[in-house]
Amino acid sequence: MRLNGKNMIVTGGASGIGLATVRRCLREGANLVLSDLENSDGEAIARELAREAGGVNRCLFIACDVTSTEQVDALVEESAARLGSVDVVFSNAGIGGMGPVETTSDTDYLRVIDINLNGVFRVARAALRQMYRQGSGSLVNCASILGTLGQSGTVAYSAAKGGVVNMTRTLALEAAPRGVRVNSIGPGYIDTPLLQGMSPEAREGLVRLHPIGRLGRDEEVANAVLFLASDEASFVSGAYLLVDGGYAAGKA
Ligand code: NAP
Repeated sequence: MRLNGKNMIVTGGASGIGLATVRRCLREGANLVLSDLENSDGEAIARELAREAGGVNRCLFIACDVTSTEQVDALVEESAARLGSVDVVFSNAGIGGMGPVETTSDTDYLRVIDINLNGVFRVARAALRQMYRQGSGSLVNCASILGTLGQSGTVAYSAAKGGVVNMTRTLALEAAPRGVRVNSIGPGYIDTPLLQGMSPEAREGLVRLHPIGRLGRDEEVANAVLFLASDEASFVSGAYLLVDGGYAAGKA
């Protein structure tokens, strides 16, 4: 098993890409902390996954809103106390946010930045402090194809994801001498609840952006996170791994 005995936190783990990653990494032998908002289904999902995996400590739920430094610090501290270490963190919590610049309010812009960028910073700081004490670890940050490419109507989202890609590079440089790897992933459009509420025409438009001819599946992103999390990626740090059905290939 590729993550045997590793202790891993996934933020935003009750849905979509986060939940698929929790499931995938459980199957590879990791012990999971599924973290999400207090009012999510995370607690019930974690209980069921732990039962399936055969042990209460295989999958724990710890509520955490990544906009709160206190909650993020407590998430990492409690995970380390209950599991013994924090070997992998997938910093995945995020929200969508559409709208052209002229109609984007300060409130809407700042909310996307606070969750999708500042949240990744808070999680990275807490995770790296713990991993530095251990002298090992792997942090994977969730960016997007919009981390390096623009798209009309995504001013806040693309600003946040661009920040995640470049923050990851700096963190990788700081963390390498301490035995810790830091990478980001860049999913194309993935069929998750984040895309719900879209008209069939808009959805078809997104499909056309991907040379592979469909949207991605959450487990296809989970497979990439698994690789970066595992020791198979022992010489990979500072990378931005696209999982995008060829979306970015013609735009370089
Ligand atoms: P999702 O199904 O909506 O999952 C995101 C999870 O994060 C949800 O459970 C959400 O809770 C939670 N969350 C929201 N705000 C939070 C906060 N402040 N603190 C903690 N958790 C919070 O979306 P997804 O598609 O799997 O997205 C996961 C990540 O992939 C995001 O970073 C997203 O930007 C990125 N991504 C997605 C796509 C895509 O096409 N789906 C493409 C590229 C990148 P609620 O459901 O209550 O909001």
